[in-house]
Amino acid sequence: MKRIVAGILSLQQHRETLAQYPERYRPEHCPHCGSGHPWHHGHYERKADRSPRGPENPVWIPRFYCRRCRHTCSRLPSCVAPRRWYGWAIQQCVLLYLWLSFSLSFTSLRFGPSRDTCRRWLRWLKGRHPLWQFRLCTDHPHWGRTPGWPEFWVEVLDRQPLSELVAWLDSHDATVP
Ligand SMILES: [Zn+2]
Repeated sequence: MKRIVAGILSLQQHRETLAQYPERYRPEHCPHCGSGHPWHHGHYERKADRSPRGPENPVWIPRFYCRRCRHTCSRLPSCVAPRRWYGWAIQQCVLLYLWLSFSLSFTSLRFGPSRDTCRRWLRWLKGRHPLWQFRLCTDHPHWGRTPGWPEFWVEVLDRQPLSELVAWLDSHDATVP
């Protein structure tokens, strides 16, 4: 889908990058028609900071406009998850705790999302596992040495954060989440 800008790991980094290097967010091509270099077209505000006082809220998400097909698109920093309340860093912590056999109740209390949400994230990644493992291993053949669920993810999350793995998948036309 190419909605995610890789390498922006915190909301603070996003705020600074957007102020200093806004071009980094501009897509090379319109995701709708493929035309080159859509125009910057304002932003929308999103509540993405889930910390107790949420000092980074509201977070600005830049929008772009394509002159050819007249569609707009937005670009998310890799720390923010499309269509999810919590960012990737919290999701990664929850998944790792569940794989370490901490209970849903403990994990929910520790990180904030409800037990149902924690369980849903686990099922979500398990459902994507065969396809996403295959895609990631086309780029990193040696990652295929730990093929099982969830060992593969424990191994690759030790190398790269979940935000960057999904940003890579998004840039290679996977649907995230
Ligand atoms: Zn277009």
